[in-house]
Amino acid sequence: MEQTKRTDVNTLGEFGLIEHLTSQFDAKHATTLKGVGDDAAIIDIGNNQIMAISTDSLVEGIHFDLAYMPLKHLGYKSVVVNLSDIFAMNCVPKQITISIAISNRFSVEALDEFYEGIKKACDFYNIDLIGGDTTSSNKGFFINISAIGFGQKDKVAYRNGAKKGDLICASGDFGGAYLGLQILEREKQLYLSDSNIKPDLEEQTYLIGRQLKPEARKDIIEQLDQVNLVPTSMIDVSDGLASELFHICKESSVGAFIEEKAINIQIEAQMMALKFKLDPVTCALSGGEDYELLFTIAPSDIEKIKLFPDVAIIGEVVDKKDGIKLHTTGGNIHPIRAQGWVHFEP
Ligand code: ADP
Ligand code: MG
Repeated sequence: MEQTKRTDVNTLGEFGLIEHLTSQFDAKHATTLKGVGDDAAIIDIGNNQIMAISTDSLVEGIHFDLAYMPLKHLGYKSVVVNLSDIFAMNCVPKQITISIAISNRFSVEALDEFYEGIKKACDFYNIDLIGGDTTSSNKGFFINISAIGFGQKDKVAYRNGAKKGDLICASGDFGGAYLGLQILEREKQLYLSDSNIKPDLEEQTYLIGRQLKPEARKDIIEQLDQVNLVPTSMIDVSDGLASELFHICKESSVGAFIEEKAINIQIEAQMMALKFKLDPVTCALSGGEDYELLFTIAPSDIEKIKLFPDVAIIGEVVDKKDGIKLHTTGGNIHPIRAQGWVHFEP
């Protein structure tokens, strides 16, 4: 009997798999300005206006754990992670659709709570909920949200526009959401071993908040508009600073030189990393779920970026042949790996 070929999806990795599945789809319409390969697709709607569309799924047990994720927060976060992809194109999100698959484990009251979070995010970010789909699942909760945004054709920030000499900028701080997750996981394990143990979350509101209630950087997009600054490239940080840096460098065919001391890591994150015996910089580079914006600007825009209260210049775009490197506080230069960087002195 002839053996059919079976390739494990893990052999390609997430991004390899997406490339494999989509490489044979070319754009048939001139209005498709950007298809697969950025934070959102970009559609030309005429008069220098574009529409940005992105979609993201959240799966119980993979992206969230209802043991410590309150449903209201889950609703809020599900919206935020989608809006973040629209902001990452330098666009303004206006509408979302939401589809859910639920098992009979969920009550109307539980879903009300989830939608309370959705409503809160829609109100805060000025978004209309315009549709979706409701279906059942055997077990587990599945959420898919699509977001629609608008922007100007000549102001869209793709992943592929970074040029040698550009400054690499990052909003906010890194590693917090990952460390918040470590605390929640630790407390869950303790609770499972002894349900009399009360969770010890009191002093870690910042880190836990970064994990349970992230915000998308709407303010940065507004500030960019105010000073009339268009990033040469931009991406949102969902998978970790290192991974997003690799996407920008790959799409733009450039390298990057990052200053370790310029990466903003809050003191709470630094202390907690040490408590978990983790390297704070590795947490910042590989942690993920910070939902900050990583972008590049022309060097001539340096004075403008200095006006931003919560943006740091963390490095410079270099030649592709010079790779993606980190200049450590100790004065060493190490290559950054896609999955982040581990403090390892040979
Ligand atoms: P992000 O992390 O910004 O949400 P992803 O890594 O999920 O982006 O996706 C990268 C790109 O690949 C996007 O353009 C997305 O629309 C596209 N993509 C992801 N999965 C698929 C798929 N199964 N089929 C077609 N396109 C996909
Ligand atoms: Mg993204």
